[in-house]
Amino acid sequence: MEFLVFTAPNARLSEEEVKEIIERCGEELEDEITELVETAAEIAAPKTLYGVLPIDARDEKGVTIGGIYIKSELMSRNFSPVSRVFPYISTCGVELEEWSKSLDDPLLEYVADAIKQHYLRLAMSEFNKFIRERYGISGYMPAMNPGSIKEWPLTGQRELFSIFGYELIKEKIGVTLTDSCLMLPSKTVDGIYFESDHDYENCELCPIKDCPNRRKAQMI
Ligand code: SF4
Repeated sequence: MEFLVFTAPNARLSEEEVKEIIERCGEELEDEITELVETAAEIAAPKTLYGVLPIDARDEKGVTIGGIYIKSELMSRNFSPVSRVFPYISTCGVELEEWSKSLDDPLLEYVADAIKQHYLRLAMSEFNKFIRERYGISGYMPAMNPGSIKEWPLTGQRELFSIFGYELIKEKIGVTLTDSCLMLPSKTVDGIYFESDHDYENCELCPIKDCPNRRKAQMI
């Protein structure tokens, strides 16, 4: 099994994004915010660790990927038509995380948080584009992510991390998992992309009603 790192281009925040942060934090902070955005653009290295793996085995209760059995009937159903999947961990990067820890003003920390969120989104969208182009995927390519649905709860992070190996993840992209299954840096997401003949979003099955990041209406 080979796991690779895809590094997203270090695109800076757009003028609209900077303007929005300034509006939220107050115009008197414009100079500081601009400086933080510039510094972040110099050091940011958003990246994704990923693999292209076959489904080793599948039964109605779950699937085995990379030698790790994941108990999830939903995953078994979602993955039934495919022979390969793309586990991934995308992060804003430890570089930005370390930088943001050096700020000691809560407002500036808030700004840094918005900047890290931007670079995480960039890592995710560029990786999605890269996988589609590299593997010729033009149809639906949804992802299952551990944590938001009971069909693959937060403890699923351990299964996903075990596919890659904890040490390898730390060595390649600096991401670690706490005992309570939270990833560090916090602006990190993981999941498994798969090809599909229909659209699928975890959000459809997620019980969190007022989530600001909801991508699809609740169906439960
Ligand atoms: S509704 Fe929000 S928390 Fe739930 S799966 Fe969608 S993005 Fe995640």
